[in-house]
Amino acid sequence: MGMRPGWVGGLVEESFFVGCAAHTNRKKNEKNIFCLGCCASICPHCAPAHRHHPLIQVRRYVYNDVVRLDDLERLIDCSFVQPYTINSAKVIFLKPRPQSRPFKGSGNVCLTCDRILQEPFHFCCLSCKVDHVMVQGGDLSNILYVPGRRRPAAAGAGSSPRSSCRSAAGGRARPTGRRSPDRPPATASTDRVAVHPPPRAIYTHVMCC
Ligand SMILES: [Zn+2]
Ligand SMILES: [Zn+2]
Ligand SMILES: [Zn+2]
Repeated sequence: MGMRPGWVGGLVEESFFVGCAAHTNRKKNEKNIFCLGCCASICPHCAPAHRHHPLIQVRRYVYNDVVRLDDLERLIDCSFVQPYTINSAKVIFLKPRPQSRPFKGSGNVCLTCDRILQEPFHFCCLSCKVDHVMVQGGDLSNILYVPGRRRPAAAGAGSSPRSSCRSAAGGRARPTGRRSPDRPPATASTDRVAVHPPPRAIYTHVMCC
């Protein structure tokens, strides 16, 4: 499986609804927002620092990450991805859900993961659609819409982080080492204090935007 380019890779690979390493002492610090500019999951306290970036709200449904179809289809062509209606809003799952047993027999199934689907749909989630397009050798840019056409109003000087993020089409999906240190690398240290990640870590990333 190839790397998913740009923000799509981030959206389907990031962890959501985990504590924000930059705001460990704050309430409601679950990361439930995805910044398309930074390709990173952030918490509500991080959001002001990203106010000039396109953001998308991620929601939780039965322990799975979902986004509203209305939000997502402004960014990517969601056709053939099966939506679910939750609280009268249509949502799309970001990732395939675990299946108890492989489906055997005839029927309409996800082209990527074989989950049983309703009739007109081909994919159970965004990730399965993106992976299918890539496996087919298709160009993902055909289904991507450019997020946030707005220019950054202030602080426009310098390099554009968006281009480094999105121009990854066909290249790396995301730089390594940007995952927030929820779980610091295991060190041989027996010092329990080391469990606390450095709170500044995420900001080194945020600031680069
Ligand atoms: Zn950002
Ligand atoms: Zn935060
Ligand atoms: Zn699937």
